[in-house]
Amino acid sequence: MFTALKGKILYKIWLAINEMPYWFVAQWQLYRLKVILKIASDFVGMYQDQFGKSGLGKIKPGNLQDLERFPIITKSMIKSYPPESIILKSSDNLFYERANICTVCRSNGEPFRFWIDKNFCRMTGALLGKIGFRDIDLNFERALFVSREAQPLFLSKNLLVLPSADLKSNAADFVKSVVDFNPRFVFFSDRGAMAMFEAAFAEYRLSERLNLKAVFVFWPNLSVEERLKSKAVFGCDVFLSLYHVFHEIPLLGWECEAHNGFHLNRESYILEIVDEKGLNLPPGKEGRIAVTNFDNEIMPFVRYHTGDRGYFLEKPCSCGRRSPIFKVTSKYPKDLLLGGKKFDYNEIETVFRYYYSIVDRFRVEPIDNDTVKIHITPLKNWSEDFNAYLNESLTKLFGDSVKIEFIIDAQTQQYN
Ligand SMILES: [Zn+2]
Repeated sequence: MFTALKGKILYKIWLAINEMPYWFVAQWQLYRLKVILKIASDFVGMYQDQFGKSGLGKIKPGNLQDLERFPIITKSMIKSYPPESIILKSSDNLFYERANICTVCRSNGEPFRFWIDKNFCRMTGALLGKIGFRDIDLNFERALFVSREAQPLFLSKNLLVLPSADLKSNAADFVKSVVDFNPRFVFFSDRGAMAMFEAAFAEYRLSERLNLKAVFVFWPNLSVEERLKSKAVFGCDVFLSLYHVFHEIPLLGWECEAHNGFHLNRESYILEIVDEKGLNLPPGKEGRIAVTNFDNEIMPFVRYHTGDRGYFLEKPCSCGRRSPIFKVTSKYPKDLLLGGKKFDYNEIETVFRYYYSIVDRFRVEPIDNDTVKIHITPLKNWSEDFNAYLNESLTKLFGDSVKIEFIIDAQTQQYN
């Protein structure tokens, strides 16, 4: 009950700040930016080094535009520092009480480890029911979360998480669990998980047994045809959101009922669209997505390039909400057909995320129906032995009939 009340209060604050006039939001963001920059420059080695190199020292921004003077941080750059330099220096127990370690690999092929503040996790958990501005009350309504990496668990009494791998290995049991639970809302960790559920939904005629109100998927974009197809299968509206709650930049934005881009979560983030030099681009111009987050004090993200590209829309959303809207243009790789079976890219990423300390990035190149080339840019710790481990993990996924060739690029000289 307390959590639900706290969630409601958090949402009211969130909504209030996001819908305030620009001058107020700018003041709020400037205050929070100063706090996170102070933490980064006083307690995080990588930022001390990077800010020092940029001649910024202990600069205090006088306005939001000053942020443009700070360097862009990439995953490769973060990996080039030893782990103790990318997180808060702390000698007390605070760090261990508040830090969660996670690994992630999105479709840009960059496995990555990060630390997240548990306080921030609680906040994103409370906002989960608000995606798409639906204001779902998880005290009374049930939601299912079909996720790539999770084990089956109840996050709360009305929020059940089921791993998408179970849907692939034993669809009948998975469907039975879903029908027994009888959710009104379904969240998907990615497009691949949603596609699998769509297939099961049609095969087991779930439209006759479930009455869904809305479906949410953590994904950058859907074509008009894809969205129409999903809506027709589920019999309800489909909302996109970015990024996944288990990722390093959770809930950066989400669609409203107009489905014309993501409303930016200004309470937690500053989003910049920048060119290759890190300079801001005007609305309508496409560039690199760089995000500054205010809430993760354990591992601050300041002007962090998520690996995706996008642009701000020039006009406010037709729904009337004040928060700016942006679109993501990155095209995530499509499904692979190997050995007569279909694999979605997220399945391959799930293997690679555990190799974050030896793989800087990877790329999958299907050659024919039975052969696939895996290009790897290794990190310093890479050794030939990992070829065998990776081969074993990927053979388990693809099956014995698929031939896997590894192409190892020139080794990068990096830590971690
Ligand atoms: Zn809108």
